[in-house]
Formats: sequence, C-alpha cells, structure tokens
Amino acid sequence: MNDYLSGPINALLNKELTLARELKGNKQYAEAAQKYRLCAKLQEQYAGRALSDSVKKQRLDKAKKYLEIAAQLEEDPEALVKNPKTSIKKRPAVPGSKISDDETEDDPALIVNQFIDRSKITWQDIGGLNDTKKKLKKAYGFGVAKSPDVELPKQDRFCLYGPPGTGKTLLAAACSSGLEATFYNVKPDLLSKYFGESEKRVSYLFEHARVHAPSLIFVDDFEALMLSRDQDTSGVEQRVLRQFLGELDGFLTKKSDSLVMFIGATNKPWLLDEASMSRFSGGFIYVPLPDDQAREQILKIHIEAKRYRIYCSYKELVEMTKGYSGRELKNISESAQQAMLERANPGFISVIDQGLEAIKQYNLKIDTISESDILSALTDVRPTTDTTAQQRYASWESNRSSG
Ligand code: ATP
Repeated sequence: MNDYLSGPINALLNKELTLARELKGNKQYAEAAQKYRLCAKLQEQYAGRALSDSVKKQRLDKAKKYLEIAAQLEEDPEALVKNPKTSIKKRPAVPGSKISDDETEDDPALIVNQFIDRSKITWQDIGGLNDTKKKLKKAYGFGVAKSPDVELPKQDRFCLYGPPGTGKTLLAAACSSGLEATFYNVKPDLLSKYFGESEKRVSYLFEHARVHAPSLIFVDDFEALMLSRDQDTSGVEQRVLRQFLGELDGFLTKKSDSLVMFIGATNKPWLLDEASMSRFSGGFIYVPLPDDQAREQILKIHIEAKRYRIYCSYKELVEMTKGYSGRELKNISESAQQAMLERANPGFISVIDQGLEAIKQYNLKIDTISESDILSALTDVRPTTDTTAQQRYASWESNRSSG
C-alpha cells in the first residue's frame, strides 16, 4: 500500500478540522463537537493507511485527542476555550496558515506530508544538462544496484547551484521519477520557522524518508538553513540546522538496503558554511544558463512538443534568446502562445463575457506563432542573470577548488 493514497483522506481531514475550529470559534459548540468526532473517524482511517507503526500511533493519538475535544465541547465548552491546556496541548499560532489555532499546526506528520510530491517529470522534459543528468542517473543506479563482492561507493548527496530557473528542481524531480522514489520537496522555512517542534520535524522527515525508501529529499534554497545559523539569536534554528546535518551524516552510518538520496539546491552557494558543504558526498554541480544547443532543446520542449508551430527556424530563436534561463525560455514560449491565441481569436473576449457554457463550446483557432508574437514575448520577458552574476559563480567555484 502506498501512503500517497492517504492524500484525499488527509485533505478531507484538514478541511473538516478547519470547519470544526470555525464552529468552535463561533461558539457553536454542539456542531463543533460533531465535527471533531468526524475528524476522529477520519484520523482513524488515515492511521489505517500509515506505513509504519510509529506514524500509525501518532495518527491514532490524534484521533483520541479529537474525541477528547468533542467530549469537552459537549460537557464544558467555556473551560476548553478559556484554558485549552487542560485538555489539549496549545501551540503557537502559525501566521498565514490554514491550520491556525490549536492542536495540529506543528505536527511533524502534517508538515512532512506537505512536502511529499509525486514527480511526473522525466529526463526527456529537461533540455541540455547532459553531463549532470548522467551523473545523477549513475548516483541512483549505483545506489540501488547490488554487488555480492564489493561495497559500492555511496555518492548520494549533491548540491546543485547556479542562477535561478536553470532546471535544478527539474533535475531533482526527474531523479525521483527515475528512482520511483518518494519525493520530499522540502521548504526550509516550513521546516524551521515554527519553533517548538522543529527538531522533531527534521528527524520525522528523515525517518519518514527511510521508511518510504527509495526516497529523495530535495531542499531548494538550501542556504536558507545556513542563514539561520548565524542570524538567529534564540539558538532554536541553530539546533534545527545541527539536527539536519546530523541526519545527513546518519545516511552514511545507518545501514539500509534502500536508497535515500539528498539533493540541496541554491542560487547563493557562497552563503554555505564549511560544515554544511562537507556533507555533499556526490559533490557540487553547477547548473548554468543554457548554451545554444540546450536553448534549442528547451524551446522545442515548450513549443514543438506542445504542438505549436513557429514562423522561424529554431536556430533563429536560439540566437534571439542568448542569456535567457530555462524558466525564462518557458515564459517566452507561453507568452508567444498567448499572443498568437489572442490574435487568432479576436472575438474570444466577448465569448468569455457570455459565461462558462459559451467558453466551453468555443473552438479556439490555432495559427503559426508569428514574428510579432515572439517579439512581444521577448519584450515581456527579460533575462535576469547578467554576466557579473555568472562570473560570481565561476569565482566561487575556483575559490572552492583551490581552497
Ligand atoms: P530556482 O533556482 O529559482 O529554484 P530552478 O533552477 O530550480 O530555479 P526549475 O524550477 O527547475 O529551476 O525550473 C523552472 C521551470 O523552468 C521549469 O518548471 C521548466 O518549465 C523550465 N525549465 C528550466 N530549466 C529547464 C530545462 N533545462 N529544460 C526544460 N525546461 C526548463
């Protein structure tokens, strides 16, 4: 059984919990109690889908807690509202979060669930970057393969660095698809922002990844974990980082049959400290702006593979897009497609005003993407990484290699 299947139950549970809290906040205690009882049932179903005993127990404990809240709401709701600590553990509010006011907002399981992703990206979706693709494929190939005679090298921790929008996340996602891995797309701020349970969250993440191996943990903006190391005065975030690095070390020491790969990504490698840098056994890989050949492949992925035609040759388009990142090339392609659609369907805006049924019945006309469509897209989307920024990556790399 796959834990992904529990997604719909979890989504429903979160929805019902939000409603339960709203009812409680509105002092509709009887209705709130009913909702909490429903949440307890859902939580039990959710527990039934857990793949490990520890996760199952956590979910069952939560179900029990909802029943306690329901009982208290029925018996003495004012006491519960005035002093939640008497029956449930009150935790700090999470600004801007849907899970806002009581018992689950810093639950490690809920946070880690938000990171789990199913990647559909394949290696063919990525233009250029052939050497990097090969390196990452070898890493998981040798990580999974067995040899009865020798212990195979473990190079399963990489740091991808380079300008924004060059395909770092895509590479991690393709790796995860190739490995049929559980993919954890970790947001550092969610991991370490809400104090209290943050360290638990880190160890839960790594434990979850081990239980659900083969897994791939991807941390975009990895330097955000480093930043907190020096800037945070409370010491809490330092502990989170220490815990994170310790868990990374655990990859080496814990014998496991199944691979747990780790990929960090950053646009600012110079912010990483020595301790963190030493953890990347597979090394640092520069993911640059695409060269001519890569730009042609990326443009074809975002235009030709989506069955659009363009007025000019791809060679010409490649010339016009020097200095653009993969993300910017995708944005240009989409902007030109939009311009063509508007041009080919001048009456469509008035159809939109006629409502949903009219829109659904309208058959969009498709034309060749013209020179003016491309030119307007090039005006809309400007390249953001200049040569000075590119040189900074090169000099960081040469300092690192010589240091
Ligand atoms: P950031 O550093 O800002 O997090 P990133 O390097 O992780 O960016 P991605 O998120 O992988 O960049 O890429 C953003 C989008 O740009 C992708 O979803 C894809 O549509 C497009 N893209 C980027 N690079 C490529 C590429 N090499 N081939 C095809 N599409 C690409």
